[in-house]
Amino acid sequence: MFKVGNIYFIAAVAVIGGALFGFDISSMSAIISTQPYLCQFNQQGFNEKGECRGPSDNVQGGITAAMPGGSWLGALVSGIASDRLGRRTSIQIGSVIWIVGSIIVCAAVNVPMLAVGRIVNGFSVGICSAQVPVYISEIAPPSKRGRLVGFQQWAITWGILIMFFICYGCSFLDGAAAFRVPWGLQAVPAVLLFMGLCILPESPRWLAKKDRWEEAKSVLALVHSKGDPNSPWVIREMEEIREVVEFERANADVSYFELLTPKMLNRTSIGVFMQIWSQLTGMNVMMYYITYVFTMAGLAEEGGAGVLLPSSIQFIINVVMTVPALLWMDRWGRRPTLLVGAFFMCLWLCVNAGLFAVYSRPARQNEFTSTAVSMSISGAPAKAVIASTYLFVASFAPTWGPVSWVYPPELFPLRLRGKAVALATSANWAFNFALAYFVPVAFTNISWGTYVIFATFCAAMFLHVFFMFPETANKPLEEVDQIFDDTKPGAIKYIGTPAWKTRNTRLQVLKQERRETRNDLSSEEKIGYQEHKETTGPGA
Ligand code: BGC
Repeated sequence: MFKVGNIYFIAAVAVIGGALFGFDISSMSAIISTQPYLCQFNQQGFNEKGECRGPSDNVQGGITAAMPGGSWLGALVSGIASDRLGRRTSIQIGSVIWIVGSIIVCAAVNVPMLAVGRIVNGFSVGICSAQVPVYISEIAPPSKRGRLVGFQQWAITWGILIMFFICYGCSFLDGAAAFRVPWGLQAVPAVLLFMGLCILPESPRWLAKKDRWEEAKSVLALVHSKGDPNSPWVIREMEEIREVVEFERANADVSYFELLTPKMLNRTSIGVFMQIWSQLTGMNVMMYYITYVFTMAGLAEEGGAGVLLPSSIQFIINVVMTVPALLWMDRWGRRPTLLVGAFFMCLWLCVNAGLFAVYSRPARQNEFTSTAVSMSISGAPAKAVIASTYLFVASFAPTWGPVSWVYPPELFPLRLRGKAVALATSANWAFNFALAYFVPVAFTNISWGTYVIFATFCAAMFLHVFFMFPETANKPLEEVDQIFDDTKPGAIKYIGTPAWKTRNTRLQVLKQERRETRNDLSSEEKIGYQEHKETTGPGA
């Protein structure tokens, strides 16, 4: 069957899986404050203006959290499915499940039906979000791996934006169509994903694992050498894959448990915490519940839809500010990117906490449809809250957003990558779930204290990154392995090289490149350097 070998086309199709992730994130935020939604799922009667008050905060938390809950499960089982059935097939299964989930939520007539539909949708997103990075990193050339995996985050941000605007447009429709149309439309990209995957090749590494060597070779040739199976690149890559597969066989079963052995535990915890911290930044407070925050800042005066347009600006900022990371993340290195991101997010959260603490007043009973809108702030301080919310998003987008997807696959040897990334991604979803559920409750009970909690998390992640997260940018896999090697001089037991002593080798590579163009490298140095360049890649 005809297969496409262009790596950018392959990545563009695969990251539609990321867009589904984004769809689910914003499919709620534009809708939770609209009357058709609040009336269809009304549980709390009416407010002083006679409007429906919708589901209680606990139930709304549960409805929102149903998706990340399903995703947590989907991500966990995805490692097993993708090892058995293949990376491509498991993403395809994910797209079919998404279509089923979208039909259920589109037809939902009550809260349980809506929650079940969101669990099904979530399950699909869990599979796709864990396996798309694995698929891309196994098929991409090392030199483009970082950027291509980073596209997943960009697709997430586009998905959030597109879905938000579809929901915004549909909020002007009468009756239940306001939420049924967008929830039905979200099935369309999954159909495209399913069909697109039919003409994409399977991961060559997975094929090799299954002893389908000839197919693996022809995929490498198709993607990397215009169909020539005898090109030196394909031959070298095949040798490398063969070595890994043989090592795996010799070392028997590679199960989730290997991730918990003393030698791997440090990497596992870093990978898992990468995703946990990305959630504890509080970014999803802005994504899921931005309409609550902006209602507090007085943007909802003209009714539910008044807050939607300003909310959409933050989704645009999210898309635009991810681009610098795609261009320069490898140049900046992972550590500085994460440290700068944590610092600024902490700052903007403190600003918001301070503004609300000093200038807000508590909301009156029944003043707003939701008790999570527990404060009200106006005038210049309200404008400052909105600005600092935007700046927070602008700090997450080029830093923790993309790095949280690029970094975990870089930490692990190939034989563990699928399962390790599945585990890290499931941690993202477990915390996403907890936050989706607790944030409205936190706003109701501790109002601006919610910001203080997230600011504290940002300070903690800054320290954790500084002391424990090594630099992986521009390093070949073997070098990443050496970082964790605890037997060399100066290394810490079970940890390896102290993280703060690891460096981005890019400058060194650039310097060598300059010397090379001046032609003052010895011939031995040239060969070594050439090999280094061939194996080194942004995400390698
Ligand atoms: C996170 C999501 C978040 C999104 C925002 C992703 O990296 O995992 O939880 O909503 O970024 O852009």
